[in-house]
Amino acid sequence: MTDPHLHDDLRAAVRELCGRFPDAYWRGLDAERAYPTEFVNALTTAGYLAALIPEEYGGSGLGVMEASIILEEINRGGGNAAACHAQMYIMGTLLRHGSPEQKRHYLPRIASGELRLQAFGVTEPTTGSDTTQLKTVAVRRGDRYVVNGQKVWISRAEHSDLMLLVARTTPLDEVRKRTDGLSVLLVDLKAAVGHGMTIRPIRTMMNHATTEVFFDDLEVPADNLIGEEGKGFRYLIDGLNAERILIAAECVGDGRWFVNRAARYAQERVVFGRPIGQNQGVQFPIARAHVNVEAADLMRVRAAALFDEGRPCGAEANMAKLLAADASWEAANVAVQTFGGFGFAEDYDIERKFRETRLYQVAPVSTNLILAFIGEHVLKLPRSY
Ligand SMILES: Cc1cc2nc3c(=O)[nH]c(=O)nc-3n(C[C@H](O)[C@H](O)[C@H](O)COP(=O)(O)OP(=O)(O)OC[C@H]3O[C@@H](n4cnc5c(N)ncnc54)[C@H](O)[C@@H]3O)c2cc1C
Repeated sequence: MTDPHLHDDLRAAVRELCGRFPDAYWRGLDAERAYPTEFVNALTTAGYLAALIPEEYGGSGLGVMEASIILEEINRGGGNAAACHAQMYIMGTLLRHGSPEQKRHYLPRIASGELRLQAFGVTEPTTGSDTTQLKTVAVRRGDRYVVNGQKVWISRAEHSDLMLLVARTTPLDEVRKRTDGLSVLLVDLKAAVGHGMTIRPIRTMMNHATTEVFFDDLEVPADNLIGEEGKGFRYLIDGLNAERILIAAECVGDGRWFVNRAARYAQERVVFGRPIGQNQGVQFPIARAHVNVEAADLMRVRAAALFDEGRPCGAEANMAKLLAADASWEAANVAVQTFGGFGFAEDYDIERKFRETRLYQVAPVSTNLILAFIGEHVLKLPRSY
Protein backbone atom coordinates (compact mmCIF):
# COMPACT_ATOMS: atom_id res chain seq x y z
CA MET A 1 0.00 0.00 0.00
CA THR A 2 2.94 2.33 0.52
CA ASP A 3 4.56 1.59 -2.84
CA PRO A 4 5.61 4.99 -4.20
CA HIS A 5 5.35 3.62 -7.75
CA LEU A 6 1.72 2.76 -7.26
CA HIS A 7 -0.20 3.24 -10.47
CA ASP A 8 2.71 4.87 -12.26
CA ASP A 9 1.19 4.50 -15.72
CA LEU A 10 -2.07 6.10 -14.71
CA ARG A 11 -0.22 8.97 -13.06
CA ALA A 12 1.97 9.49 -16.10
CA ALA A 13 -1.01 9.54 -18.48
CA VAL A 14 -3.00 12.02 -16.37
CA ARG A 15 0.12 14.14 -15.94
CA GLU A 16 0.61 14.21 -19.70
CA LEU A 17 -2.95 15.46 -20.21
CA CYS A 18 -2.62 18.04 -17.43
CA GLY A 19 0.65 19.23 -18.95
CA ARG A 20 -1.37 20.55 -21.87
CA PHE A 21 -3.06 22.94 -19.41
CA PRO A 22 -0.21 24.86 -17.79
CA ASP A 23 -0.23 27.44 -14.98
CA ALA A 24 -1.09 30.25 -17.40
CA TYR A 25 -4.30 28.44 -18.42
CA TRP A 26 -5.54 28.20 -14.80
CA ARG A 27 -4.32 31.71 -14.01
CA GLY A 28 -6.27 33.13 -16.94
CA LEU A 29 -9.44 31.35 -15.91
CA ASP A 30 -8.98 32.49 -12.32
CA ALA A 31 -8.76 36.13 -13.41
CA GLU A 32 -11.98 35.77 -15.40
CA ARG A 33 -13.67 33.42 -12.89
CA ALA A 34 -14.28 31.20 -15.92
CA TYR A 35 -15.00 27.47 -16.05
CA PRO A 36 -12.23 25.22 -17.44
CA THR A 37 -14.45 23.85 -20.20
CA GLU A 38 -11.55 22.82 -22.45
CA PHE A 39 -9.82 20.95 -19.63
CA VAL A 40 -12.98 19.17 -18.47
CA ASN A 41 -13.76 18.19 -22.07
CA ALA A 42 -10.26 16.76 -22.48
CA LEU A 43 -10.60 14.76 -19.25
CA THR A 44 -14.01 13.48 -20.29
CA THR A 45 -12.87 12.49 -23.78
CA ALA A 46 -9.91 10.63 -22.31
CA GLY A 47 -12.40 8.72 -20.13
CA TYR A 48 -11.02 9.82 -16.77
CA LEU A 49 -14.29 11.14 -15.39
CA ALA A 50 -15.89 7.77 -16.12
CA ALA A 51 -13.26 5.94 -14.07
CA LEU A 52 -15.79 4.69 -11.51
CA ILE A 53 -18.52 3.77 -14.00
CA PRO A 54 -18.58 -0.01 -14.58
CA GLU A 55 -17.40 -1.26 -17.97
CA GLU A 56 -20.87 -2.61 -18.84
CA TYR A 57 -22.06 1.03 -18.86
CA GLY A 58 -19.14 2.33 -20.90
CA GLY A 59 -16.84 3.40 -18.06
CA SER A 60 -13.51 1.94 -17.08
CA GLY A 61 -14.70 0.19 -13.91
CA LEU A 62 -11.78 1.33 -11.82
CA GLY A 63 -11.76 1.79 -8.06
CA VAL A 64 -11.75 4.81 -5.79
CA MET A 65 -7.97 4.38 -5.51
CA GLU A 66 -7.53 5.03 -9.23
CA ALA A 67 -10.14 7.80 -9.25
CA SER A 68 -8.31 9.47 -6.39
CA ILE A 69 -5.02 9.25 -8.27
CA ILE A 70 -6.61 11.01 -11.25
CA LEU A 71 -7.87 13.88 -9.08
CA GLU A 72 -4.63 14.07 -7.11
CA GLU A 73 -2.60 14.43 -10.30
CA ILE A 74 -4.80 17.29 -11.53
CA ASN A 75 -4.10 19.30 -8.38
CA ARG A 76 -0.50 18.17 -8.17
CA GLY A 77 0.02 19.63 -11.64
CA GLY A 78 -1.29 23.04 -10.58
CA GLY A 79 -4.88 22.60 -11.77
CA ASN A 80 -8.10 22.41 -9.83
CA ALA A 81 -10.11 19.19 -9.90
CA ALA A 82 -13.03 20.93 -8.17
CA ALA A 83 -14.26 21.82 -11.63
CA CYS A 84 -15.26 18.23 -12.23
CA HIS A 85 -14.63 15.99 -9.19
CA ALA A 86 -18.29 15.66 -8.25
CA GLN A 87 -19.08 13.61 -11.34
CA MET A 88 -17.04 10.81 -9.79
CA TYR A 89 -18.76 10.69 -6.41
CA ILE A 90 -22.29 11.74 -7.39
CA MET A 91 -22.45 9.01 -9.98
CA GLY A 92 -22.13 6.42 -7.18
CA THR A 93 -25.62 7.28 -5.88
CA LEU A 94 -27.11 6.52 -9.29
CA LEU A 95 -25.00 3.40 -9.64
CA ARG A 96 -25.81 1.97 -6.22
CA HIS A 97 -29.43 3.04 -5.85
CA GLY A 98 -30.77 3.81 -9.33
CA SER A 99 -33.16 1.42 -11.08
CA PRO A 100 -31.82 -0.78 -13.90
CA GLU A 101 -33.66 1.49 -16.40
CA GLN A 102 -32.13 4.64 -14.91
CA LYS A 103 -28.66 3.12 -15.00
CA ARG A 104 -29.08 1.92 -18.59
CA HIS A 105 -30.40 5.31 -19.62
CA TYR A 106 -27.96 7.63 -17.89
CA LEU A 107 -24.67 5.88 -17.13
CA PRO A 108 -23.51 5.22 -20.71
CA ARG A 109 -24.34 8.83 -21.61
CA ILE A 110 -22.43 10.11 -18.60
CA ALA A 111 -19.50 7.85 -19.46
CA SER A 112 -19.38 9.13 -23.04
CA GLY A 113 -19.63 12.76 -21.97
CA GLU A 114 -22.99 13.28 -23.69
CA LEU A 115 -24.47 14.11 -20.27
CA ARG A 116 -22.66 15.80 -17.41
CA LEU A 117 -23.69 14.84 -13.88
CA GLN A 118 -21.72 17.46 -12.00
CA ALA A 119 -24.21 19.10 -9.63
CA PHE A 120 -25.24 17.95 -6.20
CA GLY A 121 -27.97 19.91 -4.41
CA VAL A 122 -27.80 19.37 -0.67
CA THR A 123 -26.81 22.51 1.26
CA GLU A 124 -29.40 25.17 2.12
CA PRO A 125 -28.90 28.72 3.35
CA THR A 126 -30.85 28.42 6.60
CA THR A 127 -29.82 24.94 7.73
CA GLY A 128 -26.18 24.45 6.55
CA SER A 129 -24.47 21.36 7.95
CA ASP A 130 -27.70 20.23 9.64
CA THR A 131 -28.86 18.33 6.55
CA THR A 132 -31.90 16.61 8.05
CA GLN A 133 -33.46 20.03 8.69
CA LEU A 134 -33.33 21.11 5.06
CA LYS A 135 -36.43 22.97 3.93
CA THR A 136 -36.73 22.17 0.22
CA VAL A 137 -39.80 20.03 -0.32
CA ALA A 138 -40.84 17.71 -3.13
CA VAL A 139 -44.55 16.87 -3.08
CA ARG A 140 -45.84 13.98 -5.17
CA ARG A 141 -48.67 14.96 -7.55
CA GLY A 142 -49.60 12.10 -9.89
CA ASP A 143 -46.60 11.20 -12.02
CA ARG A 144 -44.56 14.25 -10.89
CA TYR A 145 -42.90 15.76 -7.87
CA VAL A 146 -43.41 19.49 -7.37
CA VAL A 147 -40.33 21.06 -5.81
CA ASN A 148 -40.21 24.30 -3.80
CA GLY A 149 -37.33 25.72 -1.82
CA GLN A 150 -33.80 26.98 -2.14
CA LYS A 151 -30.27 25.60 -2.20
CA VAL A 152 -26.94 27.36 -1.79
CA TRP A 153 -23.38 26.56 -2.85
CA ILE A 154 -24.54 24.29 -5.63
CA SER A 155 -21.38 24.02 -7.64
CA ARG A 156 -21.17 23.50 -11.39
CA ALA A 157 -24.98 23.78 -11.82
CA GLU A 158 -24.36 26.00 -14.85
CA HIS A 159 -21.98 23.45 -16.35
CA SER A 160 -23.96 20.29 -15.78
CA ASP A 161 -26.89 18.63 -17.51
CA LEU A 162 -28.11 16.81 -14.43
CA MET A 163 -28.32 17.52 -10.73
CA LEU A 164 -28.91 15.12 -7.86
CA LEU A 165 -31.29 16.99 -5.61
CA VAL A 166 -32.01 16.13 -1.99
CA ALA A 167 -35.47 17.28 -0.85
CA ARG A 168 -37.90 16.44 1.90
CA THR A 169 -40.80 14.30 0.69
CA THR A 170 -42.32 13.65 4.14
CA PRO A 171 -42.56 16.52 6.64
CA LEU A 172 -40.25 16.28 9.67
CA ASP A 173 -43.15 16.06 12.12
CA GLU A 174 -44.52 12.99 10.31
CA VAL A 175 -41.35 10.86 10.40
CA ARG A 176 -40.07 8.59 13.12
CA LYS A 177 -36.44 9.59 12.67
CA ARG A 178 -35.29 12.94 11.31
CA THR A 179 -33.13 11.10 8.78
CA ASP A 180 -36.29 9.59 7.25
CA GLY A 181 -38.42 11.38 4.68
CA LEU A 182 -35.65 12.81 2.51
CA SER A 183 -35.48 11.74 -1.14
CA VAL A 184 -33.06 12.03 -4.03
CA LEU A 185 -34.32 13.26 -7.40
CA LEU A 186 -32.42 13.47 -10.65
CA VAL A 187 -33.16 16.90 -12.13
CA ASP A 188 -32.72 17.65 -15.82
CA LEU A 189 -31.15 21.09 -15.42
CA LYS A 190 -31.57 22.20 -18.99
CA ALA A 191 -35.30 21.50 -18.88
CA ALA A 192 -35.70 22.98 -15.39
CA VAL A 193 -34.07 26.39 -15.89
CA GLY A 194 -36.81 28.90 -16.60
CA HIS A 195 -39.52 26.35 -15.75
CA GLY A 196 -39.55 26.52 -11.98
CA MET A 197 -35.80 26.69 -11.36
CA THR A 198 -33.46 29.68 -11.31
CA ILE A 199 -29.67 29.54 -10.94
CA ARG A 200 -27.70 32.52 -9.64
CA PRO A 201 -23.88 32.40 -9.62
CA ILE A 202 -22.03 33.23 -6.39
CA ARG A 203 -18.65 34.89 -6.82
CA THR A 204 -16.15 33.44 -4.37
CA MET A 205 -12.53 34.15 -3.38
CA MET A 206 -11.36 31.41 -5.73
CA ASN A 207 -12.46 30.30 -9.17
CA HIS A 208 -15.23 27.88 -8.21
CA ALA A 209 -18.34 27.79 -10.36
CA THR A 210 -20.82 27.76 -7.52
CA THR A 211 -24.39 29.02 -7.37
CA GLU A 212 -27.60 29.41 -5.45
CA VAL A 213 -30.62 27.64 -6.86
CA PHE A 214 -34.27 28.53 -6.36
CA PHE A 215 -37.22 26.19 -6.90
CA ASP A 216 -40.67 27.57 -7.50
CA ASP A 217 -43.10 24.76 -8.39
CA LEU A 218 -40.46 22.90 -10.39
CA GLU A 219 -41.96 19.72 -11.80
CA VAL A 220 -39.75 16.62 -11.83
CA PRO A 221 -41.03 13.34 -13.31
CA ALA A 222 -41.61 10.76 -10.56
CA ASP A 223 -39.52 8.36 -12.68
CA ASN A 224 -36.52 10.48 -11.72
CA LEU A 225 -36.71 9.43 -8.08
CA ILE A 226 -33.53 7.53 -7.19
CA GLY A 227 -34.20 4.45 -5.09
CA GLU A 228 -37.02 4.53 -2.59
CA GLU A 229 -38.87 7.63 -1.50
CA GLY A 230 -37.83 8.75 1.98
CA LYS A 231 -34.50 6.89 1.99
CA GLY A 232 -32.43 9.71 0.51
CA PHE A 233 -30.41 10.45 3.62
CA ARG A 234 -29.07 6.91 3.65
CA TYR A 235 -28.09 7.19 -0.02
CA LEU A 236 -26.34 10.44 0.77
CA ILE A 237 -24.35 8.86 3.60
CA ASP A 238 -23.41 5.95 1.32
CA GLY A 239 -21.62 8.31 -1.02
CA LEU A 240 -19.74 10.27 1.61
CA ASN A 241 -16.78 7.97 2.09
CA ALA A 242 -15.87 8.11 -1.60
CA GLU A 243 -16.25 11.88 -1.54
CA ARG A 244 -13.98 12.22 1.52
CA ILE A 245 -11.28 10.01 -0.05
CA LEU A 246 -11.36 11.81 -3.39
CA ILE A 247 -11.14 15.24 -1.77
CA ALA A 248 -8.30 14.00 0.46
CA ALA A 249 -6.43 13.00 -2.69
CA GLU A 250 -6.91 16.47 -4.17
CA CYS A 251 -5.49 17.95 -0.97
CA VAL A 252 -2.51 15.60 -1.19
CA GLY A 253 -2.05 16.80 -4.78
CA ASP A 254 -2.19 20.42 -3.64
CA GLY A 255 0.19 19.71 -0.76
CA ARG A 256 2.75 18.08 -3.06
CA TRP A 257 2.46 20.98 -5.49
CA PHE A 258 3.10 23.55 -2.71
CA VAL A 259 6.02 21.60 -1.24
CA ASN A 260 7.56 21.12 -4.67
CA ARG A 261 7.25 24.78 -5.61
CA ALA A 262 8.49 25.97 -2.22
CA ALA A 263 11.51 23.64 -2.27
CA ARG A 264 12.41 24.69 -5.80
CA TYR A 265 12.12 28.39 -4.99
CA ALA A 266 14.11 27.96 -1.78
CA GLN A 267 16.96 26.49 -3.87
CA GLU A 268 16.87 29.23 -6.48
CA ARG A 269 16.26 32.36 -4.45
CA VAL A 270 19.54 33.82 -3.20
CA VAL A 271 19.43 36.42 -0.41
CA PHE A 272 22.35 37.40 1.85
CA GLY A 273 24.60 35.56 -0.56
CA ARG A 274 23.05 32.08 -0.22
CA PRO A 275 19.91 30.17 -1.20
CA ILE A 276 17.15 30.94 1.29
CA GLY A 277 16.61 27.16 1.63
CA GLN A 278 20.01 26.91 3.34
CA ASN A 279 18.45 28.62 6.36
CA GLN A 280 16.79 26.23 8.77
CA GLY A 281 14.06 28.80 9.34
CA VAL A 282 13.06 28.36 5.69
CA GLN A 283 14.01 24.73 5.15
CA PHE A 284 12.39 23.11 8.18
CA PRO A 285 8.83 24.38 7.63
CA ILE A 286 8.99 23.00 4.07
CA ALA A 287 10.33 19.70 5.37
CA ARG A 288 7.60 19.53 8.02
CA ALA A 289 4.91 20.28 5.45
CA HIS A 290 6.30 17.47 3.28
CA VAL A 291 6.18 15.04 6.22
CA ASN A 292 2.56 15.94 6.95
CA VAL A 293 1.44 15.66 3.33
CA GLU A 294 3.06 12.24 2.97
CA ALA A 295 1.54 11.04 6.26
CA ALA A 296 -1.90 12.20 5.13
CA ASP A 297 -1.37 10.34 1.87
CA LEU A 298 -0.89 7.07 3.77
CA MET A 299 -4.30 7.48 5.37
CA ARG A 300 -5.84 8.32 2.00
CA VAL A 301 -4.29 5.19 0.44
CA ARG A 302 -5.50 3.09 3.37
CA ALA A 303 -9.03 4.49 3.15
CA ALA A 304 -9.15 3.97 -0.63
CA ALA A 305 -7.90 0.38 -0.30
CA LEU A 306 -10.56 -0.43 2.32
CA PHE A 307 -13.25 1.22 0.21
CA ASP A 308 -12.27 -0.77 -2.87
CA GLU A 309 -12.27 -4.01 -0.85
CA GLY A 310 -15.83 -3.22 0.20
CA ARG A 311 -14.81 -2.95 3.85
CA PRO A 312 -15.98 -0.31 6.33
CA CYS A 313 -13.87 2.83 5.96
CA GLY A 314 -15.87 5.67 7.52
CA ALA A 315 -13.22 6.45 10.12
CA GLU A 316 -10.32 6.22 7.66
CA ALA A 317 -12.09 8.28 4.96
CA ASN A 318 -12.87 11.04 7.44
CA MET A 319 -9.38 10.97 8.95
CA ALA A 320 -7.84 11.10 5.47
CA LYS A 321 -9.92 14.16 4.57
CA LEU A 322 -9.01 15.94 7.80
CA LEU A 323 -5.29 15.14 7.66
CA ALA A 324 -4.95 15.95 3.97
CA ALA A 325 -6.89 19.23 4.19
CA ASP A 326 -4.75 20.30 7.16
CA ALA A 327 -1.55 19.24 5.41
CA SER A 328 -2.37 21.07 2.17
CA TRP A 329 -3.31 24.20 4.10
CA GLU A 330 -0.06 24.05 6.09
CA ALA A 331 1.91 23.55 2.86
CA ALA A 332 0.07 26.49 1.28
CA ASN A 333 1.06 28.75 4.16
CA VAL A 334 4.64 27.56 4.02
CA ALA A 335 4.78 28.19 0.28
CA VAL A 336 3.55 31.78 0.69
CA GLN A 337 6.13 32.37 3.41
CA THR A 338 8.93 30.86 1.33
CA PHE A 339 8.08 32.98 -1.69
CA GLY A 340 8.01 36.13 0.45
CA GLY A 341 6.44 38.99 -1.50
CA PHE A 342 6.23 36.90 -4.65
CA GLY A 343 3.87 34.54 -2.82
CA PHE A 344 1.27 37.26 -3.24
CA ALA A 345 1.92 37.90 -6.94
CA GLU A 346 -0.60 36.30 -9.29
CA ASP A 347 2.13 35.34 -11.77
CA TYR A 348 3.62 32.83 -9.33
CA ASP A 349 0.33 30.91 -8.83
CA ILE A 350 0.99 30.37 -5.12
CA GLU A 351 -1.73 32.78 -4.02
CA ARG A 352 -4.22 31.16 -6.43
CA LYS A 353 -3.63 27.65 -5.12
CA PHE A 354 -3.57 29.04 -1.55
CA ARG A 355 -7.10 30.38 -2.05
CA GLU A 356 -8.22 27.15 -3.69
CA THR A 357 -6.96 24.75 -1.05
CA ARG A 358 -8.44 26.78 1.81
CA LEU A 359 -11.88 25.56 0.77
CA TYR A 360 -11.21 22.05 2.05
CA GLN A 361 -11.29 23.13 5.68
CA VAL A 362 -14.98 23.96 5.11
CA ALA A 363 -16.37 21.96 2.19
CA PRO A 364 -17.68 19.48 1.32
CA VAL A 365 -17.64 18.88 5.07
CA SER A 366 -16.09 21.15 7.66
CA THR A 367 -13.24 20.08 9.92
CA ASN A 368 -15.44 20.34 13.01
CA LEU A 369 -18.02 17.97 11.59
CA ILE A 370 -15.29 15.41 10.85
CA LEU A 371 -14.02 15.70 14.43
CA ALA A 372 -17.61 15.29 15.63
CA PHE A 373 -17.87 12.10 13.55
CA ILE A 374 -14.62 10.71 15.00
CA GLY A 375 -15.65 11.69 18.54
CA GLU A 376 -19.07 10.08 18.30
CA HIS A 377 -18.59 7.08 16.03
CA VAL A 378 -14.97 6.08 16.65
CA LEU A 379 -14.37 7.17 20.24
CA LYS A 380 -17.99 6.60 21.32
CA LEU A 381 -18.18 10.00 23.00
CA PRO A 382 -21.59 11.67 23.44
CA ARG A 383 -22.99 13.22 20.29
CA SER A 384 -21.86 16.85 20.38
CA TYR A 385 -24.24 18.39 17.85
C1 LIG B 1 -17.17 26.83 -2.75
C2 LIG B 1 -18.16 25.90 -2.15
C3 LIG B 1 -18.70 24.89 -2.92
C4 LIG B 1 -19.68 24.05 -2.39
N1 LIG B 1 -20.29 23.12 -3.20
C5 LIG B 1 -21.39 22.47 -2.73
C6 LIG B 1 -22.17 21.66 -3.61
O1 LIG B 1 -21.85 21.48 -4.79
N2 LIG B 1 -23.31 21.08 -3.13
C7 LIG B 1 -23.72 21.27 -1.83
O2 LIG B 1 -24.75 20.74 -1.47
N3 LIG B 1 -22.98 22.02 -0.97
C8 LIG B 1 -21.85 22.63 -1.39
N4 LIG B 1 -21.11 23.43 -0.54
C9 LIG B 1 -21.58 23.60 0.84
C10 LIG B 1 -20.66 23.00 1.88
O3 LIG B 1 -20.84 21.60 1.90
C11 LIG B 1 -20.99 23.70 3.20
O4 LIG B 1 -20.50 25.02 3.10
C12 LIG B 1 -20.41 23.00 4.36
O5 LIG B 1 -21.01 21.74 4.52
C13 LIG B 1 -20.64 23.82 5.65
O6 LIG B 1 -21.97 24.25 5.74
P1 LIG B 1 -22.31 25.78 5.96
O7 LIG B 1 -21.52 26.59 5.01
O8 LIG B 1 -23.77 25.97 5.95
O9 LIG B 1 -21.76 26.10 7.40
P2 LIG B 1 -22.55 25.98 8.77
O10 LIG B 1 -23.22 24.65 8.88
O11 LIG B 1 -23.37 27.21 8.95
O12 LIG B 1 -21.33 26.01 9.79
C14 LIG B 1 -20.54 27.21 9.96
C15 LIG B 1 -19.34 26.86 10.82
O13 LIG B 1 -19.79 26.40 12.10
C16 LIG B 1 -19.27 25.12 12.37
N5 LIG B 1 -20.30 24.34 13.07
C17 LIG B 1 -21.63 24.26 12.79
N6 LIG B 1 -22.24 23.45 13.66
C18 LIG B 1 -21.29 22.99 14.51
C19 LIG B 1 -21.27 22.10 15.62
N7 LIG B 1 -22.39 21.52 16.06
N8 LIG B 1 -20.09 21.84 16.24
C20 LIG B 1 -18.96 22.44 15.83
N9 LIG B 1 -18.90 23.28 14.78
C21 LIG B 1 -20.04 23.55 14.12
C22 LIG B 1 -18.93 24.50 11.03
O14 LIG B 1 -17.90 23.56 11.18
C23 LIG B 1 -18.51 25.73 10.22
O15 LIG B 1 -17.14 25.97 10.43
C24 LIG B 1 -20.09 24.21 -1.03
C25 LIG B 1 -19.50 25.22 -0.24
C26 LIG B 1 -18.55 26.07 -0.79
C27 LIG B 1 -18.01 27.16 0.08
